Amino acid sequence: MEDCVFCKIIKGEIPTEKVYETEEILAFKDIHPAAPIHILVVPKKHISMLTDLKPEDEALIGKIYTTINKIAEQEGFKKQGYRVIANCGKDSGQEVMHIHFHVLGGKKLGDKIVD
Ligand code: AMP
Ligand code: ZN
Repeated sequence: MEDCVFCKIIKGEIPTEKVYETEEILAFKDIHPAAPIHILVVPKKHISMLTDLKPEDEALIGKIYTTINKIAEQEGFKKQGYRVIANCGKDSGQEVMHIHFHVLGGKKLGDKIVD
């Protein structure tokens, strides 16, 4: 998708700090980390919002979570745990219109999921 920052990262047109890659999924460091560990996990297929997901995307979303497990193992934070957040739409404050899963960790995270 033209003009999509994450599609540009996937195509190698914008530099990024890659953490993990499969045929279908890319994980890279968030440019403005909100925690010591802040990784974005994205499907290479452009899907704008979670509300656009189709039944044929179900396997892909499952793979995102098993990939996050592998990333946690690779990066050494599996034991301590982590939080996964996916924003969808205006009320969530979604800024980049290409679905992505924030993986946050590296410290004891706040008890409140929303403020
Ligand atoms: P969201 O508010 O859920 O749409 O989050 C978008 C996230 O993408 C933010 O945490 C940004 O810091 C991050 N972001 C935007 N552009 C880049 C980029 N070029 N490389 C890495 N992370 C980015
Ligand atoms: Zn995209």
